[in-house]
Amino acid sequence: MEILPQNSTDPLHMHELSIVLSIVKIAEKEAVKAGADKIRKIELEIGELSGIEMESFNFAWKEAIKSTMLADASKEVQRTPGKARCLECGSEFRMNHLYDGCPQCNNYFVDVIGGKELNVVSIFV
Ligand SMILES: [Zn+2]
Repeated sequence: MEILPQNSTDPLHMHELSIVLSIVKIAEKEAVKAGADKIRKIELEIGELSGIEMESFNFAWKEAIKSTMLADASKEVQRTPGKARCLECGSEFRMNHLYDGCPQCNNYFVDVIGGKELNVVSIFV
């Protein structure tokens, strides 16, 4: 007999959910340190190459903040554009996908120098 537990989480959203949960933990810890019992606003930085799917992230967010200090907080997300430097010719370019090659010389050995950010920038209590 198969039993499907209620409230099981869509596995497609698991990655984003675990990220959201760690953000909630960080934010609550900081708020408690500041003597607050509620967070009014949170600002996040999420890079375009961070691998986070924003639709899943926002879905997980709504679920995860319930009955936390972030329950009524507004959320602002800054997207950092992807950026890479070619290890062959040294040119820097806008990277739209993680495995893009250098547009100058077609080399695939590149350093990702922007867009992988996942940070809590600030919280307002
Ligand atoms: Zn190059």
